[in-house]
Amino acid sequence: MTELGESTAVSVRDLPADASIPTRVVFWVLQPALWLAVLAAWVMDPENPALFGLTFLGVHSVLGALEYRIPARRHWRHPMAEKIAVIGIAIVTFMVGGAAAGLYETYLTAPLDTLRMSLGLDLWPHHWPLIPQALLVFFSSELIWYWMHRAEHRWVPVWRLSGHGAHHAFKKLNAINAGANHPIELFLIVLPSILVDLLFGVGVAAYGAALLTVVQTAVVHSNLHLNASGVGWLFTTNAWHIRHHSADLAESNTNYGCAVIVWDRVFGTFGDSPVIEVGVGPREPTTLEKLLMPIREPAGGVIAPTRRSSR
Ligand SMILES: [Zn+2]
Repeated sequence: MTELGESTAVSVRDLPADASIPTRVVFWVLQPALWLAVLAAWVMDPENPALFGLTFLGVHSVLGALEYRIPARRHWRHPMAEKIAVIGIAIVTFMVGGAAAGLYETYLTAPLDTLRMSLGLDLWPHHWPLIPQALLVFFSSELIWYWMHRAEHRWVPVWRLSGHGAHHAFKKLNAINAGANHPIELFLIVLPSILVDLLFGVGVAAYGAALLTVVQTAVVHSNLHLNASGVGWLFTTNAWHIRHHSADLAESNTNYGCAVIVWDRVFGTFGDSPVIEVGVGPREPTTLEKLLMPIREPAGGVIAPTRRSSR
């Protein structure tokens, strides 16, 4: 594997000429294999509440081990203390996300049931097989998230109040960074799928979509060489999402779809080029600076929207 310097633009979508056999296998099959494994487990027991935690643990264990053995960028491997810190943040994120989802379900189920009936939105195709239903939830939730995420990057107040800059602040991306968010932002992140679920009375198919989202958000942050030419037409790959994490403003304002890329293709924000550096600026803010990002932008930040750039 090529040793990559800090200033080298790295294309994770290209297989290095000297790639090992494990790197080649991961490149061609990992992303679809994880989808199939998780969806197969879900279809066998669609309401098993343990599946969410098991999927999170299983996917991050597999990706973490592969990132250690065959990383795309060696200098992005976390030293042990840093890995433990990011895992700790991801565990907090996981719990805050669960609490946010619980609150929304408690307070939104009755009003959205009423709204569905009054607007005649009882249209959900419950007679479809489970996987097509889950994919419908997945793509429609991502359409909502696309516009929310785009608003975070385009409008100063949304960028600030969402704390989204904290997610972009890390200078090394690994799968576990999928869970490295400001706690405030979890109240936005879980909202699209809950709105689709409750507004259309989806039911168990929303659970399958949530499991697929866990897989996708982990894979798109991974530090691995992955094929983007096939799956990357509809689904986000790490090549597309690492570009969104670029420390270059123009590159960062592309690829807003965290799980599917098709909405970026439809709305003209898709971008494809290797990335030199990720983060919000030349240095990584401290943990305290990341937590304070809803109030104060760290010095030297370059990807936050400004009043002039907002549109
Ligand atoms: Zn973003």
